[in-house]
Amino acid sequence: MTSHSGIEIKGLAHAVRGTEILAPTDLSLPGGRITALIGPNGAGKSTLSRLIARIEPPVTGRVVVNGLDVATTPSDRLAREMAFLGQQAWLASRLRVRELVAFGRWPHCMARPGPADRAAIDRALRDFDLLPLSGRFLDTLSGGQAQRAHLAMTAAQETPWLILDEPLNNLDLAHARALMAHLARLRDGGGSILVVLHDLNLAAGWADHVVAMKAGRIVAEGTPGEVLTAPGLSSLYETEIRVSEHGGRPLVLHHL
Ligand code: ADP
Ligand code: MG
Repeated sequence: MTSHSGIEIKGLAHAVRGTEILAPTDLSLPGGRITALIGPNGAGKSTLSRLIARIEPPVTGRVVVNGLDVATTPSDRLAREMAFLGQQAWLASRLRVRELVAFGRWPHCMARPGPADRAAIDRALRDFDLLPLSGRFLDTLSGGQAQRAHLAMTAAQETPWLILDEPLNNLDLAHARALMAHLARLRDGGGSILVVLHDLNLAAGWADHVVAMKAGRIVAEGTPGEVLTAPGLSSLYETEIRVSEHGGRPLVLHHL
């Protein structure tokens, strides 16, 4: 890993029609780690991840991804460094699963996929349990199957950074766990991941680093053990949350 590995955020802020939705934020996200971004609805998690991925320009501030300033880096270069899957990622439905996944290779091959691109598409289809569905139209899939197809497209981009906004939406327990295990394998191979999660136990079980947001601000940051505490989470979500321990990691109890 180079010394530039990581995301550096300085003075990043955002507002919509004069209303601040992200207060000026400084943040360093470590390379080679899984960082979970948590917080209640409306905290600004999607806003922060969209600004990092340059889906929209910030009102002020700077984001540098592995040494590349996202404001000035050409799109194709940036798309080889960072892949983003947003919360609402529904593309044209008259598209087959394999065609959708192939879009992930666009920054590498434009419209001319070669053997390496086809191999990456096959890997992503296999990793997301989509081989039997690869010829199906997206509008014939269940919500969870379609979510996996979008995840496979993002994975096929094979970038050093992966930014996923609530990727577990619609996924069953087994596929949710498989996704987290996939992210851990990417991390073990030197990859870097930022993932917005609502399932705090998956954050506890798989993340190396946790960032908590509330009302457009980062309110806590650290290891799962440091951030996922009963007082911290109860105050973050404004509801009573108990935390136990399992296998040396926090076990969050909030359905009781
Ligand atoms: P989260 O992903 O943490 O649930 P978001 O980043 O989506 O939160 O939203 C943060 C806040 O900004 C919310 O209060 C949301 O309603 C508001 N917001 C986001 N986008 C817009 C927009 N285009 N117009 C008005 N308000 C917005
Ligand atoms: Mg969101």
